[in-house]
Amino acid sequence: MFDAASAFATDYGEARDKFHAAAAERSLTIEQHIHPSARGVGGEQLSIDVVVAGNTNAKGLLVVSSAMHGVEGFCGSGCQVALLGDDVVLAALARSGVAVALVHAVNPYGFSHLRRTNEDNVDLNRNFRDFNAPPPPNAEYASMHAIVVPPTWPPSRENAEALGAYVTRYGVPALQAMISRGQCEFPDGLFYAGRAPAWSSVVLREVFARHGCGRERVGWIDIHTGLGAWAHGEKIYFGPDDASMIARTRAWYGGDVTTVYDGTSSSAELTGDAHDVALDACPQAEYTGIVLEFGTRTLNDVMQALRADQWLANHPDAGEPMRGTIRRQMRRAFYDDSPTWQAMTYAQARVAVLQALRGLSAAG
Ligand SMILES: [Zn+2]
Repeated sequence: MFDAASAFATDYGEARDKFHAAAAERSLTIEQHIHPSARGVGGEQLSIDVVVAGNTNAKGLLVVSSAMHGVEGFCGSGCQVALLGDDVVLAALARSGVAVALVHAVNPYGFSHLRRTNEDNVDLNRNFRDFNAPPPPNAEYASMHAIVVPPTWPPSRENAEALGAYVTRYGVPALQAMISRGQCEFPDGLFYAGRAPAWSSVVLREVFARHGCGRERVGWIDIHTGLGAWAHGEKIYFGPDDASMIARTRAWYGGDVTTVYDGTSSSAELTGDAHDVALDACPQAEYTGIVLEFGTRTLNDVMQALRADQWLANHPDAGEPMRGTIRRQMRRAFYDDSPTWQAMTYAQARVAVLQALRGLSAAG
């Protein structure tokens, strides 16, 4: 049986090395986009690395991307490396006549620094909006910002009570929606959308334009972690509110594809999410996308890790052991390095890729 565990890495540098080695093993060329200014936690160079496998002139292209949310990249990178080592998948790819673009570490800064956001505290999956239009308001977040990101960590008793009172009054789903929808007002807050396209967003757009150019069909599997049951891969429809697109996505991946539009997804409805990049960069193509979202810890654990991480970002002078504790808390909230979790997540990513290849080739 194919063993995926060796594909997973312990840090960003190792993840990138493994991706490069796995591509070299298959004699695939690496297209490297080096970050112009930001560096990794150990001073290392940061890059978005792209490998295209299969029939490069195909009518159908599947994009599989990792680390849109930095620290979530442990899982997606492991799956990408495992795919490159998986003879069954590569044989299916050859039979399908489809091209696959693996986009490694969309947000390499967050991956290296164990943050969900990029070098400017921007949540990339809220950063794909029209910056000429007025920012979408999030008055609920504005009213709760000082509570969500407290001035002290651990939070004071008053802070915990204030957050508890919100949950008692509105419920946990409302809290999640208020925080995770995205906001443009507080650069030192959670799920900050930014005020201009981030470097990663620009590169991702270029990658889609270059490799999606001329294709009739484009599929996208964007691998995330942090929501849902432990090691379960929720297939969240990743596109506009369009019934025929949702129906096609379910035809490819099964009736258990969830969407934020009908409340079946564990994700809240977002503004500025990245699916627009595929639609904008490849307007000629029929687009079918999912986020593959793997569960790690409880929603409360993940939320507390994010609050602590934001507090740390806002207090760069904070010393050890607090710094190390929060970094480890973040890693645990978005990744589980047990062989069981790795095997379960890769098995589901593998199925999704095989389904997408089938969808992309059957349509032709
Ligand atoms: Zn994510």
